[in-house]
Parts: sequence; C-alpha cells; structure tokens
Amino acid sequence: MHLFFPSRKKGDLFYISGDEYRHLRVRRVHPGEELGIIHEGKIYRCVLREKGKGYAVAETVSVSEPDIPEIELTLYQSVTHSLATMDLIVQKAVELGVTRLVPLLTERSFAGTSAVEKRLTRWKRIIGEAMKQSGRAHVMALDPPRRLEDLNPEHGLNILLDNFHDGKRMEQLDLKGVSSVSVVVGPEGGFSRAEVNTLRERGFTPVRLKPYVLRTETAVITAVGIIVNLAGP
Ligand code: SAH
Repeated sequence: MHLFFPSRKKGDLFYISGDEYRHLRVRRVHPGEELGIIHEGKIYRCVLREKGKGYAVAETVSVSEPDIPEIELTLYQSVTHSLATMDLIVQKAVELGVTRLVPLLTERSFAGTSAVEKRLTRWKRIIGEAMKQSGRAHVMALDPPRRLEDLNPEHGLNILLDNFHDGKRMEQLDLKGVSSVSVVVGPEGGFSRAEVNTLRERGFTPVRLKPYVLRTETAVITAVGIIVNLAGP
C-alpha cells in the first residue's frame, strides 16, 4: 500500500495536493484503489474517491493504532563533510526509529552552521520519504545544529561511540527496561581526544563497537539498530 501525506483532513476525507499529488500520479493510484495516509501518528487505510486537477480525495476505511515509539532515542550526529553520507544517516535514523536527530558541530565536522541550517529543509524531505517507505507514522524531530561544547547528558542512558578507548561493549549495557537513550557519534575524521575526554567527564558512557574502526554511518546504523532491538519494556 502506497503511503501519502495529506494537505487537509475533513471528517473521513483527506485532500492530497502539491508534491504528494504528483507522487500519487507517479504511483498511478486510480479512483477505487487503496492507499494509505499518514496523519498525526496514525496510518489511515483509505480508498481513492476522486482525482481532480492538482488534487485528490481519499476516504478512510480503517485507522491504525497510534504509532508510539517504545523508546525515546536521541541521535547526536556530527555533521559529515559529505552531504550524501548525512542524507543516508537521516534516512536510516528514520527507518530505525530514532525519535530526534540533532546535527552536532565538532572540531572535525562540517563547519558552516548556516550551510547546515540550509540543509535542514532537504533532510526534512528525506524524513518524509523515509516515513512513507518504512510505514512509520510518527515524525522524527530534527533539531537545529548544536555545538559539542553545549552537550550534556540527559535522563536515561547516554552513550558516546568512542573508538579511542576500551569502552564498554554493547552487551555490557543493561538495555532491558531502558526507555530513554542518547547516542553521540563522531564525524568521518572522528572526535579529537579532547572532545572525547570532555564528554566522558560530563558523564557520557563510552561504548566500543566490534570489531574494527567503522565509518561514521556504519557505527550509527550498528549502534542504533542494536539499541532499538534490545532496549524498551
Ligand atoms: N578516522 C577516525 C575514525 C572515525 S570513525 C580514526 O581513525 O580514529 C567516526 C566515528 O564513528 C567515531 O568518531 C566514533 O564515534 C564512531 N566509531 C567508529 N568506529 C567505532 C567503534 N569501533 N566503536 C565505537 N565507535 C566507533
């Protein structure tokens, strides 16, 4: 079932316009056929009733339960120099159920704050696409960029992906029952030793992934994938 974002809801009806209407045309959804609508944390199974010039109308058949994440997962991702890598990480974070992504500015990350802010629009579009692709109904929040100096541990488990020190192994973290996790990941060139030491002193738990030094995107996908599958009630 193809999923779409509506521009408006009126009773049992959803109106689809703009880019989403174009998407519906590309997918060749015709009146009488089934489609899904993502709206406020739920997926509505609908039937297409009308296809006009530049808009379409879908009628609700049934509604899913609200898609509530099992754990609150915040990803502090150092902004990579490669736009393509950052795009990939945003997409994978949505698929893996990250609740909030905070682009992090570090010594060796992509430097320009204003350039990062300009990219937020592109990342929001990637978030929407990934939600439709993966059937996720709750939006992944995307924060404005934050500096590493301003980062402090929050409630729950605060993990620093650290390839310098012999940190804890994933299996040594007691993830069962944990409902809130933050993960901090370095850029392509890694964190500096000073940055890692600062975060450790502030109370982030260093974690070392097996078996080698991983690219930043590999490290995120591995760590988040393990956490999402093992943490929670
Ligand atoms: N060029 C750097 C590696 C950077 S890897 C070097 O040679 O040291 C980018 C980021 O991915 C790191 O800052 C860290 O956050 C994470 N990472 C990579 N491999 C890891 C591992 N084995 N364990 C934990 N974190 C890792």
